[in-house]
Amino acid sequence: MNSDLEELYQQVILDHSRRPRNFGELADPAVRVHGDNPSCGDEIHLAVKFGPGDEVEELKFTGSGCAISQASASLMTMKVKGKSPSQIRSMLDAFEKLVTTGRESHPQSLGDLGLLAGVHKFPQRVKCAMLAWRAIEQALQEDAGQAIVSTEAEPSQSE
Ligand code: ZN
Repeated sequence: MNSDLEELYQQVILDHSRRPRNFGELADPAVRVHGDNPSCGDEIHLAVKFGPGDEVEELKFTGSGCAISQASASLMTMKVKGKSPSQIRSMLDAFEKLVTTGRESHPQSLGDLGLLAGVHKFPQRVKCAMLAWRAIEQALQEDAGQAIVSTEAEPSQSE
C-alpha cells in the first residue's frame, strides 16, 4: 500500500471517530444492544428502529473506545440504514472477510467501509472493527427488547 493511500485511510477513520455519524440517543427504539470489547475497552450502545418491511429504518449509537471501534460504528450506521436484514448480513460477512483477510469479493458493496481493510494487518484490532457489526447482528436477532453482545463470546482466532 502506498503512503498516500494509507494517509487517506487514516484521515477518514480519524474524521469518523472524532465526528461520528448517527451518534446520540434514539427515542423509542425497538431494540437496544450493548456491545462490549473487553480486549480493548471499547463499548457501544446501539439503538435500532425497524420499518414496515423489517428494514432498519433508524439507528443511532453512543459509545467510547479506540478510533477504529468508533469509526467502524459510524460507518456501519451509515451503511445499514434503510437496508433489509439479509442485505445487512451479507455486508457483515463481506466486512468480516475484509478485516480478517484484507480481501473482499465485492469492493463496491462496502463503500467507505473498505477503508478499514488495513485492520487485517493488526489482528488485535479486528474485534474493534467488528464490535458495531456484532451489535447490529444481535439487534437483527432480537426484533424487540434489549441484548448484550461481547466480542469475547466468539471463538478466539489465533492466540
Ligand atoms: Zn478498540
